[in-house]
Amino acid sequence: MQDYLNVNSLECWHTDILVVGGALAGLAAAIGAREDDADVLLVSEGSPGHSGSTLYANAYITSCPQGQENVLAEQILWTGGYLANPELVDVLVHRTEAANKLLLKWGLGMRPIGDPDKPGGLQMDTVPGQPKGAALGRVLADQAETRGVRMHTPIAVVSLLHGPDSGICGALAVDMKAGKLVAIAAPQVILATGGGAAAFARSDNPRGTTGDGFRLALEAGAELVDMEFINFNVPPLGVDSILAAGPESIGDAGSAHYFLGGVRIDSAAQTQVPGLLAAGEVTGGVFGAARLGGSALADGLVFGLRAGQTAAAQQPARSHRAEDFAVRLAEGLASFQRGDTVTAAALDAQTAEIQNIAWKQVGFVKDAANLQAAVESLAEKHRLSGRWQAADAADLVRLQKLRSILLTALTAAQASLLREESRGNFWRSDYPQPHAADGRFNSVAQLQDGDVQVSRRLCSGQPPAEPAPMRLAPGCLRYDFSLGRSGI
Ligand SMILES: Cc1cc2nc3c(=O)[nH]c(=O)nc-3n(C[C@H](O)[C@H](O)[C@H](O)COP(=O)(O)OP(=O)(O)OC[C@H]3O[C@@H](n4cnc5c(N)ncnc54)[C@H](O)[C@@H]3O)c2cc1C
Repeated sequence: MQDYLNVNSLECWHTDILVVGGALAGLAAAIGAREDDADVLLVSEGSPGHSGSTLYANAYITSCPQGQENVLAEQILWTGGYLANPELVDVLVHRTEAANKLLLKWGLGMRPIGDPDKPGGLQMDTVPGQPKGAALGRVLADQAETRGVRMHTPIAVVSLLHGPDSGICGALAVDMKAGKLVAIAAPQVILATGGGAAAFARSDNPRGTTGDGFRLALEAGAELVDMEFINFNVPPLGVDSILAAGPESIGDAGSAHYFLGGVRIDSAAQTQVPGLLAAGEVTGGVFGAARLGGSALADGLVFGLRAGQTAAAQQPARSHRAEDFAVRLAEGLASFQRGDTVTAAALDAQTAEIQNIAWKQVGFVKDAANLQAAVESLAEKHRLSGRWQAADAADLVRLQKLRSILLTALTAAQASLLREESRGNFWRSDYPQPHAADGRFNSVAQLQDGDVQVSRRLCSGQPPAEPAPMRLAPGCLRYDFSLGRSGI
């Protein structure tokens, strides 16, 4: 056995609520949980308030004046091709205004763009010389600190500890400065690890956005919804010429931007796994097949606060059980002793290969032949990676990130293969039109005996009175829909 996996040498931390991720959704969750004085530990790979996609956001956030909630809800549902979960949309539209007021109260300047009496957006203050999301991050990190949230960084969570019936009981993480594995006992975990755009060779997200939360949730038994729906920045050619050119036309233009799909949650930000919650870009179901500009920040803020409040309200119903933790910890450590030890160089080379497959075969224009080839090669790599082990704690982070990228790309490829239509920002050159029947289901991904299974599930919303859209232009839509309609 490798030394770093010896249970006797592990440091063990305890908390009531563990938040994983130190950007918008994670900090909002930690703040929300402290409203009820719960004991909260936030761990993050990147600095709290200065990491994740949040740091690079254009700092534009959805606003919704009182009385306009139904208007905004309809805009979100329309934009997403009526595949969003209406219960989640309802939470978003009814809580976004109060959440924005909190940011203002905490000292973040924000000014309306456009008519303040209609749903639209607010432009946040920025800090000269810093990335645009720095001011938002600073305000949230200050609030979390003032409220007594314990924060440890740089810590990478590599797996969750969970039992088949008892649910979550903690996590295994790597203290990246000390190069040591750490065990964290926690009856509730909130995933706020962001999306997975760095699974693609070309992405505008920071490198750490590797879909870790997608893998952690799948491995714990949770479901991912709509993994085929991904925003890409694409060259300004128009949708029809991109579709006509086909997947082979994807060269070095464009980049992966945002995951619309992700961990399935209910309106209280809970997954189906007891004790596991999620918020922000790691989740799916809030938007469907496309989204409005500014809505990702609104989603992270609203559902972050909500996840924290839900977790705090569960205390002390979910309390720490030492016996369960000891058993799951032993299982978790054993799962890292798989077989062949891989070198850091081999892991880096494999990671680059997977990112290239994702970009070329699961990129912004897809077809069955490329998707099928991607599924076969990614599934084979997934099987192989299950037999690898890491030489030390630093390589364990590399290995687990490789597995995160693999599962992100594989679930996206399998879900894309199932959807035989084009809708929202999802484009198939072999099925260039929307299809009424396909437009009534969400894709749901799960791990069964270690393999990814993706199936169709009837979506929970009502079919639209007006015909649903459509293929939209790339990127996020404006609230007057001018961008989206021009691309139809
Ligand atoms: C260039 C760009 C511009 C954008 N502009 C806008 C905009 O103007 N308006 C808008 O609404 N949206 C915008 N978006 C999208 C929006 O910024 C993101 O969706 C949102 O910030 C995600 O917040 P999050 O907290 O969910 O995740 P992130 O901000 O990505 O944070 C994830 C956190 O989790 C940590 N983490 C990840 N994995 C682990 C792990 N295994 N263990 C521990 N910690 C981990 C990271 O270090 C980080 O702290 C933009 C995105 C980009 C890339």
